[in-house]
Amino acid sequence: MATASTAAAIPAARTDGSRAVGWLGAVLLAAFLGGFPFVVDSSYYVHLVTVIAIYAILILGLDIVVGYTGQVSLGHAGLFGIGAYAAGVLFLHFKLGIWWGLLAGIGVTAVFGAVLALPALRVTGPYLAMVTLAFGTIIQILINELTPLTNGPLGITLPPPRVLDFSLVGLPSPWGAAGRRMEFYYLVCLALLVTILVVNRIVRSPFGRAFEALRDSPIACDCMGVSVYLYKVYAFVISAALAGLAGSLFTWSERYVSPNTYVFELTVLFLLAVTMGGRKSRSGPIIGAAVVVMLPNVLADITLVRWMAWGIAALALAAGALAFVRRAENRFAILPPVVLCLLFLPGVYRLEQVTDYRLTIFGLMILFVVYYLPDGIVGFFRSKVPILRPRHAAAGGLSPGSAASAEAIHAQQGRGGTDPLLRLSDVLMQFGGLKALAGVSLDVRPGTIHGLIGPNGSGKSTMMNVLTGIYRPTGGTVALAGRRLDGQTPSGIAAGGVARTFQNVQLFGEMTALENVLVGLHHTFRATVFEAILALPRRGREESRARARAAAILDFMGLSAFAQEEARNLPYGKQRLLEIGRALALDPVLLLLDEPAAGLTAPDIADLTAIIRKIRDAGVTVILIEHHMDVVMQLCDRVSVLDFGHKIAEGAAADVQGDPKVIEAYLGSAVSGPAEPAHA
Ligand code: ADP
Ligand code: MG
Repeated sequence: MATASTAAAIPAARTDGSRAVGWLGAVLLAAFLGGFPFVVDSSYYVHLVTVIAIYAILILGLDIVVGYTGQVSLGHAGLFGIGAYAAGVLFLHFKLGIWWGLLAGIGVTAVFGAVLALPALRVTGPYLAMVTLAFGTIIQILINELTPLTNGPLGITLPPPRVLDFSLVGLPSPWGAAGRRMEFYYLVCLALLVTILVVNRIVRSPFGRAFEALRDSPIACDCMGVSVYLYKVYAFVISAALAGLAGSLFTWSERYVSPNTYVFELTVLFLLAVTMGGRKSRSGPIIGAAVVVMLPNVLADITLVRWMAWGIAALALAAGALAFVRRAENRFAILPPVVLCLLFLPGVYRLEQVTDYRLTIFGLMILFVVYYLPDGIVGFFRSKVPILRPRHAAAGGLSPGSAASAEAIHAQQGRGGTDPLLRLSDVLMQFGGLKALAGVSLDVRPGTIHGLIGPNGSGKSTMMNVLTGIYRPTGGTVALAGRRLDGQTPSGIAAGGVARTFQNVQLFGEMTALENVLVGLHHTFRATVFEAILALPRRGREESRARARAAAILDFMGLSAFAQEEARNLPYGKQRLLEIGRALALDPVLLLLDEPAAGLTAPDIADLTAIIRKIRDAGVTVILIEHHMDVVMQLCDRVSVLDFGHKIAEGAAADVQGDPKVIEAYLGSAVSGPAEPAHA
């Protein structure tokens, strides 16, 4: 474990600067919401803020699916409707009030979220978008048709909500109808603040890291023992529960539910809010919600629109002029929107009203956001103001040698002795007519580095994929210490102690180096999602322990200086090392390295060789695929050679190198040893 001196070097989740900004934002928001009804004495505007807060709750939840797991959901209007109807139906049939409505809204919608997650397990991208769209449509039709339950197209009308029921304690309500409206307003504000806290805690927990990992590389996520299936379901359920909360609050806010509210346009508006506000933030969804709720109201008032047009024109002129004065590289690219914004001004003066052009304006906004603000409003400000960045690293991460690297590797105890740790028997892997592995049998002894070489396309990577459960072998068996691996899921195999790296680096690009390793340490976390939400002590203990361990691993790999750097920004050689570090976090018995030295410079290769040797000395068995023959010769205790899916030779490195069959496989003729493979 970390000593006192190393503990100081362990990076916190966020450095103090951005955390302080976050708290400041939360306090300002709470003060704004709390004071608003006193400053603005208008029930219209109080209602407007209520609706913005309700939308923000839903959009914060939608951001978990869209921003964190990277899945597109067009079903959130449907989920919103389910929450709304849960509250409405409870009142219609049982005269149950708002609290029951909220409970039912959250519970019922969470169940539907799991249902919506099922297709997300099978399909991604545009297909998922279509399936979720169908889900939303089906929900709308069901609401319409199930008249006995939902009152059909007529909808359900509700009385004013009773948030605090003083009659329960035998007292009359101390305030009148206006006071009871305030009770509801403050309930919504409280729900929003709690939602922000809950989402914050979830996304910073191992759950949030799993969501981001499955977005950036599902295959690596599974191979780190983090089941992509399971965490997609988690994300959809949490997101749906928040949509349900928002829906039931919306029902009691409008005091009327009808099917044609929860339509496709609403889903598009939600997605616009997430992308425009800025994904992966708490302020983004709130800003987005404010924009999409207020926009229709603003557009209905032509005087306001004309004032806005002046504002936009002035901003556009200023931005354009600034770009040209500073001779910015993109000065010609920003010309079209500047001209468009200027044309907007005479345009609105010709029109009597713009409400009819509402959808056109939404469309233009989406185009603008996609082209010029791909990271949304919050993302734009983060790129300009470093302190707003969530991973703003004040001191560049860890200082080298700060953590006890010797403790970096905790090998799981494999079976000692001379029995093979890994045994492949007659493994056949067929892709259509191609036998990528044509009946390979192989034993790997514990505590050794076993080399796997062969020309390109000989089946080496395929063997890794079979070993880690990505491919299910067509025939034969694979056993680790006597336990069958074939047929298990990738995450199951990883949990059993098989870690790997990939021929094409598969890091979690948007996550920092430290977080990448923390995903590898996912198996050390026991705290449930509720413990994360409530910030119970076990969760904190586990987090600091894991961070100390991750820091030690980064130190061991010589990556301390990059701890707070996003993985995609690391130099290529460091990315390869980080991938090995992340694999070590799994505490593997068996580590599979697929061409770790590919693309590395000579000094990097020397470092890598030393590291692999240390890993073996710590008791981890290694299978090494490598084209650099000098690395293979230096490291490998035994070498197996594959060619066209067959094992053509096996033995000590030096023996194999001189084998005529091997030389022929590499060069096509017996000229010289495979020290210089004939292919790139
Ligand atoms: P290497 O030894 O270079 O790592 P591979 O294991 O990647 O070779 O590939 C072995 C053979 O299997 C190649 O001919 C490759 O085209 C084929 N192959 C690998 N994966 C698949 C797949 N998913 N579908 C079809 N063919 C595949
Ligand atoms: Mg390969």
